[in-house]
Amino acid sequence: MMDYGLNNKYDNNKDEYVYSTPNNDIVDYKGNKNFESVDFMQEAMIEAKKAYKNLETPIGAVIVRNNEIISRSNNQVEKLKDPTAHAEILAIRKASKDSDYWRLFDCTMYVTLEPCLMCVGAIINSNIKKVVIGCYHKKNSKVDTEVELALELLKLNKVEVEYDLRDECQKLLTKFFSELRKIKNQK
Ligand SMILES: [Zn+2]
Repeated sequence: MMDYGLNNKYDNNKDEYVYSTPNNDIVDYKGNKNFESVDFMQEAMIEAKKAYKNLETPIGAVIVRNNEIISRSNNQVEKLKDPTAHAEILAIRKASKDSDYWRLFDCTMYVTLEPCLMCVGAIINSNIKKVVIGCYHKKNSKVDTEVELALELLKLNKVEVEYDLRDECQKLLTKFFSELRKIKNQK
């Protein structure tokens, strides 16, 4: 076990020692920072809230490698006037650019909403290992078919899919669309 010469604390629940550095970063015995202390979906939600503030559909995504966020982004379709500027696509672009190798096979994406078909295509092409999703699409028949197809495609390409459902992801979207309707009705 590495000695960090730091504050060692025994975690009774985990039955092991945890360490913290002088900056109070929690590190595990391999020296990985912040293990299990970062709520990645919460971080994706912070990105979604940034989008909300910019009057963009509030969706956020973070990409994680070795328990560390290597890329984060939010929906920027309006700002960039780019229909492909979804949070997932922008996060993938950055992660690939910043990595030694563009394939992200050792990465997990946390995204606040079920990804669309375009983003699923990008997830598959980037070789992301796993996608963790924060909320379901509000169901209607068109979206249902699309989401089913998207999830099927992920499965076919052996991308792991997990749900970490958060009310807050859904609430943010509902609030955004109801405000949008109000603005439209005022015009
Ligand atoms: Zn998308």
